Amino acid sequence: MRIDILTLFPAMFHGPLTESILGRASHVVPLWGTLRDRQDDKPMEIHLHDLCQWGKGKCKQVDDSPYGGGVGMVMRADVIVPAVEAVMKDGVEENRGGPFRVYLSPRGKRLTQVKVEKFAKKPWLLLLCGHYEGIDQRVIDGGWIDEEVSIGDYVLTGGELPAMVLIDAVARQLPGVLGKDASAEEESFSHILGRKREYPHYTRPEEFRGHCVPSVLLEGDHAAIALWRRAHTL
Ligand code: SAM
Repeated sequence: MRIDILTLFPAMFHGPLTESILGRASHVVPLWGTLRDRQDDKPMEIHLHDLCQWGKGKCKQVDDSPYGGGVGMVMRADVIVPAVEAVMKDGVEENRGGPFRVYLSPRGKRLTQVKVEKFAKKPWLLLLCGHYEGIDQRVIDGGWIDEEVSIGDYVLTGGELPAMVLIDAVARQLPGVLGKDASAEEESFSHILGRKREYPHYTRPEEFRGHCVPSVLLEGDHAAIALWRRAHTL
């Protein structure tokens, strides 16, 4: 899967995309870097783009004050749309059929596991991270965004953390990202668990400061364990 990220703060992605499971699973291409050292064995190829590149004038301005007045700045359509178009053009030779374009926004539809599974089936995602008051509505109304997605009913300072949340959740669905592919199948909100919350887990020691592991999990009766787990899937 290819993921392009349009952001004012590309450096924020280092760490989340370069460490741990995502670090192993993704090949990060910084700022229009080439894929010279392409690693086809990695399930994700992530391209970071600094929106300032498309900024206006000497100062590379990306935002302006809102029509109608009020506090805060709005990210300009004539900065964002050329950036979206440049990304679409860049990937066109790869035969992926165009990116599915997501704007991370508190006004969007809530990110759920069902939505994550849908995104994981796309060969190419473009994630637009807003800042300040958000983006000029004409970017959305003009058809340059396919879906607005929110990670919850609260407001963050920018779309970078929501983009990382989306990438992390999508990555777990891709074959080869988790040690055992099956481990993504039986999780909270998965189809197998009826979209419910998973049962609790325990490991050694059997007793910790007076708290014991439920005895059914120690007795090796697999049918009883399955029953217990089903009863504790909420
Ligand atoms: N004025 C906007 C509003 O009230 O809905 C909030 C803008 S917010 C301060 C700046 C940016 O952060 C947004 O453009 C969006 O990209 C991102 N953002 C903030 N909260 C988010 C959330 N819950 N889900 C997804 N993106 C979010």
